[in-house]
Amino acid sequence: MRKVVKFGGSSLASAEQFKKVGNIIRADESRRYVVPSAPGKRFSADTKVTDLLYKCYRAAEKGQSDFDSILSEIKGRYQDIINGLELSMSLEEEFQMIEENFRNHAGEEYAASRGEFLNGKIMAEYLGYEFVDAAKIIRFDGEGQFDMEMTNRLTREYLKNKENAVVPGFYGAMEDGTVKTFSRGGSDITGSIVAGALDVDLYENWTDVSGFLVTDPRIIDNPQVIDTITYRELRELSYMGATVLHEEAIFPVRKAGIPINIRNTNAPEDAGTMIVEDTCKKPAFTITGIAGKKGFCSLFIEKSLMNAEIGFGRKVLQVLEEQGISFEHIPSGIDTMTLFIHQDEFAEKEQQVIAGIHRAVNPDFMELETDLALVAVVGRGMRANRGTAARIFAALAHANVNVKMIDQGSSELNVIIGVRNEDFETAIKAIYDIFVETRI
Ligand code: ASP
Repeated sequence: MRKVVKFGGSSLASAEQFKKVGNIIRADESRRYVVPSAPGKRFSADTKVTDLLYKCYRAAEKGQSDFDSILSEIKGRYQDIINGLELSMSLEEEFQMIEENFRNHAGEEYAASRGEFLNGKIMAEYLGYEFVDAAKIIRFDGEGQFDMEMTNRLTREYLKNKENAVVPGFYGAMEDGTVKTFSRGGSDITGSIVAGALDVDLYENWTDVSGFLVTDPRIIDNPQVIDTITYRELRELSYMGATVLHEEAIFPVRKAGIPINIRNTNAPEDAGTMIVEDTCKKPAFTITGIAGKKGFCSLFIEKSLMNAEIGFGRKVLQVLEEQGISFEHIPSGIDTMTLFIHQDEFAEKEQQVIAGIHRAVNPDFMELETDLALVAVVGRGMRANRGTAARIFAALAHANVNVKMIDQGSSELNVIIGVRNEDFETAIKAIYDIFVETRI
């Protein structure tokens, strides 16, 4: 068994946290390839090293006087970890090089990537593993797009015969050596890429929560942890926001058929959440998760004989496309269709969109409704269970929530419900209550 293990910033924010990580890695010899993030926050008001690096680089670019003080704050963060781990290493040479490159304007992405680079150096020294610079194996093409083929080849070449190694997360390089980063939180992507390229058995992603929760803990106190979720369900629950796992981290492992296990560095005995392609394990509560978001608006369009007018939908959607607006859902009736759109995105272009639709399809009537929320109830268990929808809507009716829209995908994996913003929390509580608390 071989695993890639990725540790997030909060798992590596201090020497204390590093020690926990060391124990986790040493407890299982299949944890062979380690992908570290940069040191994150040690307490809630703290600053992530990545943010300090961006700030430091901006100061260097503008020739500001606080450059030295920010750089020494960053040095201090790493030195504290080195001291706390009682390592005899020094990052002096690396910092000299970084300072020089900052002053020569090596680029913001180079700057940000040093967080992972330096943490990787410490991690390699601490574990006695070989350090492999991600710039050597994670490749971007001339346009700055991630080059999967080249990356896979290089990763295999460099790592295949290594017993173990540390590969810093978040960045790679173009062929000419220019460093590129993924978007924020991108160490998750590196871990997934390395796991996929080496075709390991499992990608463990260690963070500061014990997995995905059935719903948002800001709405429900201590919600249950999801033990197993499929990739598809996870996508449907993407309204949860990318706080646990970067959205783009799914693709490389999914393609290679490798599961992801989300684990908690601060509670390593917890099994966490397994993310898998498919499973015959029944979800504990019929539904796997409930997620949602406020801040949508709906645009209702009515036109007699809409159903017979070929190209009607295309023309409407083309208007959105021309304005660069994406839509969330389009429930429709025989002579009606309703577009659900992010309100802030829509607000900027509303008059152009409305005028554009008038021009394109000449509707009989249009009506805009604002301040709506969408709730997604997701679960592979729905398909096999009767009465799931009845339970959802009975719960909402009892909670006095007016349902504005219902959309069930034909995959029977999700039911999306539109409610007013002010009913959002009540709706989630009611659904959680009926499926998880009372389990009826
Ligand atoms: N350090 C980077 C960030 O803060 C990447 C990561 O942690 O995954 O976004």
